[in-house]
Amino acid sequence: MIRYRLRCAHGHAFDSWFRNADACDADLAAASVACPECGSTEVAKAIMAPAVGKQAAPATPCGRPVCACGCPALDG
Ligand SMILES: [Zn+2]
Repeated sequence: MIRYRLRCAHGHAFDSWFRNADACDADLAAASVACPECGSTEVAKAIMAPAVGKQAAPATPCGRPVCACGCPALDG
């Protein structure tokens, strides 16, 4: 079994279990998956979001990653 995060045409996200990736594609193509919130069968796989919790490093004037003490180019 494989779980996919799906999103309907109205923007509702939900998870659904499928036997495998092919079964997921087949069910979506056959419109046999309905959104639990609005019942829409216009459902597609949502892009898997990367793990949240870590902020992307902000751009720095020197282009180097920022450490805890700040941009090395600004030292001194
Ligand atoms: Zn929906």
